[in-house]
Amino acid sequence: MARTSLEKKLKERAGFVVLAELTGGPGFSFEPIERFLEAYRQAGPGAIPAGFDLSGVTLPQSPGGEANIEPAGVISVLQAKGLLDGLDVVPHVTCKDMNADAIVSSLMSLRKMGVRNVLALTGDKPVKAQGVFELESLGLLRLIKRINQDAYVQAKPQALADVHQFFAGAAVSPFKYSEASQMQQYYKMEKKLACGARFLITQVGWDWRKSLELFTYLRENGLTVPVFGNVYLLSTLTPAPRLMHDIKLPGCFVSDGLLAKVNSERVDDHLERAAQQVAMYKAMGAAGVDIGGVPNFELSTRILQRAAEIGPDWEPFKDNLHWPAKDAFYLYSESGVRTALSTPRPTFSKRFFDFSHRAILDPKHAGFHAFKKTLRFLGTNKGKGAIYKMFNSNEKAFKYLLFECEECGDCFLPENFGLCTIGGCEKGMDNAPCGDATVDGRCGNNLERICIGERIYQAAASEDLKSQISDSGTQDSRGRARLRVVINKPRNPALEHTSSIINYLFAKDHTMRSPLISIGEAIHASIPKTGKIMRQLHDLGRDAYSTPSEPLEYIKALIKTQAGEGADYIAVNLDAFGEDNPQQAVDMMVEYVRLVRQFGHGVPICLDSSNDNVLTAGLKEWYGGKSQISNLKSEIRPPLLNSIKVYTMDKMLPLKKDYDFSFIGLLVSEDKPTGPGGSHSVDELCGLAKQIFERAVGQYGFRPEQIFFDSTVFPLAIDMPMEPGVPGYTYRTFETIKKIKSDPAMKGVHCSLGISNSVRDLPARKIGVCRAYVAKAMEYGLDAGIVNTSHQYGSVEAPPELLELVTAYARMDGSMEKMSKAMELMGQFCRENRKAT
Ligand code: SF4
Repeated sequence: MARTSLEKKLKERAGFVVLAELTGGPGFSFEPIERFLEAYRQAGPGAIPAGFDLSGVTLPQSPGGEANIEPAGVISVLQAKGLLDGLDVVPHVTCKDMNADAIVSSLMSLRKMGVRNVLALTGDKPVKAQGVFELESLGLLRLIKRINQDAYVQAKPQALADVHQFFAGAAVSPFKYSEASQMQQYYKMEKKLACGARFLITQVGWDWRKSLELFTYLRENGLTVPVFGNVYLLSTLTPAPRLMHDIKLPGCFVSDGLLAKVNSERVDDHLERAAQQVAMYKAMGAAGVDIGGVPNFELSTRILQRAAEIGPDWEPFKDNLHWPAKDAFYLYSESGVRTALSTPRPTFSKRFFDFSHRAILDPKHAGFHAFKKTLRFLGTNKGKGAIYKMFNSNEKAFKYLLFECEECGDCFLPENFGLCTIGGCEKGMDNAPCGDATVDGRCGNNLERICIGERIYQAAASEDLKSQISDSGTQDSRGRARLRVVINKPRNPALEHTSSIINYLFAKDHTMRSPLISIGEAIHASIPKTGKIMRQLHDLGRDAYSTPSEPLEYIKALIKTQAGEGADYIAVNLDAFGEDNPQQAVDMMVEYVRLVRQFGHGVPICLDSSNDNVLTAGLKEWYGGKSQISNLKSEIRPPLLNSIKVYTMDKMLPLKKDYDFSFIGLLVSEDKPTGPGGSHSVDELCGLAKQIFERAVGQYGFRPEQIFFDSTVFPLAIDMPMEPGVPGYTYRTFETIKKIKSDPAMKGVHCSLGISNSVRDLPARKIGVCRAYVAKAMEYGLDAGIVNTSHQYGSVEAPPELLELVTAYARMDGSMEKMSKAMELMGQFCRENRKAT
């Protein structure tokens, strides 16, 4: 039977989608799942009442933390038996049993099976085994997003239409009854959407006001994501009501009243409540429902048939759907007015953390620099030795006592408002909370402790009070606003048990910034594959850059991937399109500027062109065609223009008056070179830099840090002076950087190079040579580069033998001896890396 994908159905919102949540039986039995689907096959879609569309099945992964059959195994059996005919599958993917690599492997298996939908969850804490939780729901969603982007980036131009994309959903619970737990759920829901969730499925719960609250919150915040209401058949057919009531299924809440009611009823009444809930979700605007806990297909259809009878008129059943906790927090009153949020006083430990962090760990304060200097003097920055060990053991003891530190070595206390989400959380999550907190804010996995998410919220909210007291609004960003957006990266497992303070002070942890300002080079029309796809996109016509298409997805993936890899700028070069028709490159640059603005997560563009008209059009478009001066509140980061030369500077630099930008000053000249071998000498190149600098800073108001000089890269493979006494180009390039960076008059400027040019025509190991080239150039003062951002140049060590090779070229000052050394090493490199024929 032809199947319309779940994604398409949700996009078109054509009908009310029903998903059936199916779980295996005791003894790892597939039988209940197969029986359900066999009954559906025999009954046919006609058994489902009009207005409902049974579209697929959801497959939990070891629900309740008890080992059970794997969703991938279930899918392969169902596919083999032809039981999925016409139905989609939504396997749950969780982080409880697998580390990040194992999750990737598992997703690849699903991809191979043709599965597109997944529900990305942190997962229940395993009852008997050790939980993993290297990732949690946000880390998992980001991983899936990355896999989707890579699938496009790695596809052949002619195969873009077949690129597999996961359609990931996430969970949300509106059924929390403390302010902290509830607001954390909404904040985390927003973060899940930011990390790539495309649909939501609610937690189970029986409180219509809470269900409505979720839809009100989404509407209030302009979020149009499709939501599935989770309808669980709460029935004495299973022990679920008692287990939920007794907090044996963390995150699920059944009140005393509801348990008593369910126990006093017959199964027909349980089915009736489930049907009322289906009708309620439909009337509230849900995209569909996910129905679970139903033992067979027949009862599922009874629920749907009764829901169809109820239709939109569910409100007479409100009392039967309203089983809240005592003293429940609701974000909106019954008349829809928003509740004011609390502003607690900071606790002693919060104040102590803020004080000590500010005193020695905040770079804005002098204590940080003194502390760092002392520790460097003592040699602790090397991460070994007796003093380091003493420091580390003291830090461990101190932080264990105060923060329940478990020595991850990659500390997120500042991001988490002074609380540790490893030691303080039963799952040790990077981004707390999960959805397991009880109605009174305790951890559902350990009732002895308050959920860490609850405590983080209180700490964040206390910063709001502090902001009110200080009345400046500038002392700190308001805590809740910060909490609402902060997404912690996965911790670096390599740092476990090392000193987190030393790692932080010496930039080895997640706060580390690349020493190189990286300008992503991937969107360049002269890269064969990219150029071909750019052409395909262009040929789609007028609306090509706004209408969904595979080539557009590819370009978006390039933009997002580079932004995700930490690019400081995303370069776009369209000069190949302008060779026959210069205006085409101008028009296309406007479109690409819009794409980078839209999908670059705030990373500014590097407008890369030898045509000044392309640069000018791109610059104006970056600011939406409006002068930046007329839009002073703009938070758009200024773009980078590549390149400006001495003979174009008086045309281009005056644009700064209306459109702020940084630029790469290319050190080339139309004047006849006077250096050895007929090329520009180091002194001449520095002279060009000075001319540009003086004009830019003195006349046009640029700050030195807005200027990048490019002394040009010559491929190592052909850097061979033809005459004795003539230095190599690499020597000249590096020495020019050194001279510019040591000139006090030009203090603050950057030096940048197009790194990939250095390895042109080399037979192999191009990434390694680029790494070595960057490492060597950085010794001379290079601090920026047009690079492949995935290789993290400047942060990963270069192989010593390649560093030796580049060093030989950097030293080729014209002497025969140094040239022979460079040629000898290059000969050896080529011999060792010759490709087999
Ligand atoms: S402490 Fe909170 S976030 Fe951690 S496992 Fe318990 S309920 Fe979940």
